[in-house]
Amino acid sequence: MVERSINPQRVNFLAMPIADDILDQFAAALGPKGFTRDAETIAPWLSDWRGIYHGRCAAMLSPKNTAEVSAVVKIAVQHGVGLVPQGGNTSMVGGATPSADGDSLIVSLRRMNQIRVFDADGGSVIAEAGVILETLHNAANGAQMRFPLTLGAKGSATIGGLISTNAGGTQVLRFGTMRKLVLGIEAVLPDGSIYDGLAALKKDNRGYDLTQLIAGAEGTLGIITAANLRLMPAIADHAAAWIGVESPQVALKLLRFFEARSANAIESFEIVPADSLALVLQHISGTRAPLGGNWPWQVLAEYVETAEGRVADEALVALVNNAHAMGLIGDAVIAKNEGEIGAFWRLRDSISEAERASGPAMQHDISVPVEAMPDFMIDAAAAVEATFSGVVASAFGHLGDGNVHFHVRAPQGVDGATWRAGEGKAASRMVYDLVSAAKGSLSAEHGIGQMKRVELLRQSDPARIRALRAIKSALDPQGIMNPGKLVPLASDVDDA
Ligand SMILES: Cc1cc2nc3c(=O)[nH]c(=O)nc-3n(C[C@H](O)[C@H](O)[C@H](O)COP(=O)(O)OP(=O)(O)OC[C@H]3O[C@@H](n4cnc5c(N)ncnc54)[C@H](O)[C@@H]3O)c2cc1C
Repeated sequence: MVERSINPQRVNFLAMPIADDILDQFAAALGPKGFTRDAETIAPWLSDWRGIYHGRCAAMLSPKNTAEVSAVVKIAVQHGVGLVPQGGNTSMVGGATPSADGDSLIVSLRRMNQIRVFDADGGSVIAEAGVILETLHNAANGAQMRFPLTLGAKGSATIGGLISTNAGGTQVLRFGTMRKLVLGIEAVLPDGSIYDGLAALKKDNRGYDLTQLIAGAEGTLGIITAANLRLMPAIADHAAAWIGVESPQVALKLLRFFEARSANAIESFEIVPADSLALVLQHISGTRAPLGGNWPWQVLAEYVETAEGRVADEALVALVNNAHAMGLIGDAVIAKNEGEIGAFWRLRDSISEAERASGPAMQHDISVPVEAMPDFMIDAAAAVEATFSGVVASAFGHLGDGNVHFHVRAPQGVDGATWRAGEGKAASRMVYDLVSAAKGSLSAEHGIGQMKRVELLRQSDPARIRALRAIKSALDPQGIMNPGKLVPLASDVDDA
């Protein structure tokens, strides 16, 4: 065994090649299907989805069951080898990318892709960590049920990754983030022991909630091998409206109006500023504005019925008419069919792509308390634009969750890399400072990973950082689980 001091804030303490005899132990535990040193096979998994981070790895481990994950962790802890749990590798913050030092091994959960138990009557499913979200959607739909969390990466993102990042998406307004849909988990802890918390207990007061501690931990406290997840009744009907409003303040009032009159049937409520819509219309082929007139802010609202025989269109038309009569809506159009609902969502989902086509931008996935968000959107954008000449600051997204994508677009004609490293970085810091001042979060959905670790340190009060480090140190004293992610390192202090 390699002697390691207890050091969760380690600095490259594994920066050494992993010896062949140690790799042989992993190979023996996993067999040929579960172990590879083939560079071509490993290569696609060494860079993050955005292509920002690039790692190195002597081998990729692909256990087929929980016992094999446990065996892998026991070998790793014995020799001080870092392990990077990986699902679909869709992390937006470099969370599943190993370091460039080659001191860690990827543990891919993709072979663990079985649905162990499907309990339609009880409204739950036990799925292994490597089940892809879309596969779970299809399994639920096939049984007239629904797993409501969805996001753009549903064809790749896995249950283990979604739990580890506490993913959000477009249905959070009604169902909450991934944590709310998790009834229990099975995980291999950093010493190789297996925590079986799969039983769905409605009441359980045995102290610390280990399931919820490991959820959102980004693979730093263990490897999730399976989860017991909540299912919902299938949708009977749905409808969508595209609505013009005067301001984010009015949009939030509209949301509250809808909620008070629709018994929790409003499932999505996305806000889109005029400049973002204009970029979509300019850069994304086949798009058109749903409304005439120049509405400074527009809202995409989706209404869902689960009871058979109730018509969502009629209910949404009535809601929109009432809101119009109250002066909350300037203009609105209800989608006439699935094609139009899809066209509304395409406008919303294409904003980032349209922005990329228009030039460089700094992107921030932030949250503040919901009721404070409308003022924040206006005031923070004005402050950033006043400080950095020529930039455009613009926020869009999940207003009802208090979570928007706050993007700062570069002045026309600048060199992207130079701008990002200089003024763009300063603009980002300003955004995060404003978020902190509003008691918000610098990561509403995507997590911390390696991208935001230093900024987390800068923006957090010392009590939070001390607690994070203490938890990490207690459960993973050797720091083998996803090194360099989430928990700020001692060396980060100098960067802060
Ligand atoms: C196009 C696109 C759209 C997206 N939209 C959204 C969105 O709307 N909302 C949102 O919240 N996110 C979104 N994301 C981010 C991403 O989908 C989530 O982070 C997702 O939860 C990651 O799942 P994954 O299986 O790909 O995990 P990976 O990317 O492989 O890993 C993510 C993190 O979880 C850890 N991890 C993975 N599996 C396990 C496991 N079994 N046990 C322990 N730790 C594990 C990894 O170490 C890493 O830290 C989007 C990403 C893309 C590419």
